[in-house]
Amino acid sequence: MLKMIVPLALAATLIGAASIAQVSAAVPARVAAYADSAIQWGYGYDSLLRDLAIWRKHPNVRIDSIGASSQGRAIWMVTITDGLDSLGPVDDPSARKHRVIIHARTHPAEVQVEYIANEAIKQLLDTGFAAERLRSEFIFNIIPMYNPDGVELGHSRLNAHLVDLEGDWNKQVLEPEVVALKRTFETFQAGPIPVDVALNLHSDTVNCTRFFFFHAALATSGFYADLEKNFIGGVQSHFPGGIRDWSYLNGWSDGFLSQYPESFWWTTQREKVMALTYEDSNCPNAGGFDSTGRALVLGARDYVAGRMQAALRKGPPTVSRVLLSPEGVRIYGGPPGSYWQVDDLLGRRLAGGSFGAQGILIAWRELRAAPTRILSVMRPFQTTERVRLPLNR
Ligand SMILES: [Zn+2]
Repeated sequence: MLKMIVPLALAATLIGAASIAQVSAAVPARVAAYADSAIQWGYGYDSLLRDLAIWRKHPNVRIDSIGASSQGRAIWMVTITDGLDSLGPVDDPSARKHRVIIHARTHPAEVQVEYIANEAIKQLLDTGFAAERLRSEFIFNIIPMYNPDGVELGHSRLNAHLVDLEGDWNKQVLEPEVVALKRTFETFQAGPIPVDVALNLHSDTVNCTRFFFFHAALATSGFYADLEKNFIGGVQSHFPGGIRDWSYLNGWSDGFLSQYPESFWWTTQREKVMALTYEDSNCPNAGGFDSTGRALVLGARDYVAGRMQAALRKGPPTVSRVLLSPEGVRIYGGPPGSYWQVDDLLGRRLAGGSFGAQGILIAWRELRAAPTRILSVMRPFQTTERVRLPLNR
């Protein structure tokens, strides 16, 4: 498998000289005020280069620069997957690989998430069967240090131009780091294996706990909010007691905000990409980075598997969508006049009805009687689609 390290000098040429000149004049006088650490919070660019040199020896790793930072440092992306044909049969979406992209350390002081990204990488390179299977089904793209200049300059939140990259996605002129990450997202979306899950890792000094930045239905959609709950619940299940419920932070509750990486994903991909910010603790109680890294990876895997099971992708574009949520089974988007029904394995009807405008929720308690269940969605003039529901709910 190809292993590539782009030399720094080459990476530096990727960024236009004009964009540096535009903003650098203001930097020197103000840097001192923003530079509140000279020791890179314990993990600097050299530390990353040392770890990259270890990881790149693994046969299932590829290391690329996605572009150069404002000061010309390469922004490294670690790609992990096995060497099999990653496309699969073109007419069978369930056979293709899935993509998870994770970027960390937008804010240099949030070193905890660099450790989480590193732990995720280590676990994906494990020799065990679980990691082997993950590599065969997924492509993981992990950017452990998105803001290397800020790390090296000792800034807590800013890049070399004193810009907070997290809230810079809606500007007329984007920072070089944002350009590099956005171009990476767009390249993946234009290719045969688009992103399924995009995670943006942070840690904060206020809440001192682990949680996701939930995007309310008001700013996204009811279906997406349910998908978010599904995803967060899945991650939680791999780190019992470690991560807060989705309701801990109900973000975007006053409406959509356009300046974040997640804004890019919602605007361009809607429900197709699960894009969330995860916040770790940046307080003395921080830790468990291996557990968090593992939970994020396995939660992403479960989410993708669940959507494949539920999406009924082989149907025509108007097909309904079925989601297993904590409250029960939700069915969205049934065409007018179509009918849904839940039967048990012996064909006995447990519930049924017609599709309305708002979708349908079948509470788990309504389905309790059946030992194993098959949900059927019948559309006019079409065959019946079936989804197997989980046991022991
Ligand atoms: Zn942050």
